[in-house]
Amino acid sequence: MKKYNMKPIEDLMESAINRLKKLLPSDHNMKCRSCGQIMDLRDLSQVFAHEDCNGIPIDYKTMKQIPHSGAQKIGSPELHTKNNGVINLN
Ligand SMILES: [Zn+2]
Repeated sequence: MKKYNMKPIEDLMESAINRLKKLLPSDHNMKCRSCGQIMDLRDLSQVFAHEDCNGIPIDYKTMKQIPHSGAQKIGSPELHTKNNGVINLN
């Protein structure tokens, strides 16, 4: 007789939600229209690297880094950076 390893439904739901979260970009991430790789908009190095990716995903570890990059919502005094968190500009 075949034995089944049963998991509680809560565990299955949580793992499904975590897998979906990995697929969906967060509000500071964007999927490149050319190669489909997710880029972090707080890191301009990644954004500019996809300017000429020609459909080939970028190796973020070896690409040229732009220091002090960040993103700011219009009208907000906060600068969102990848490495230094949120910086209040006031
Ligand atoms: Zn790309």
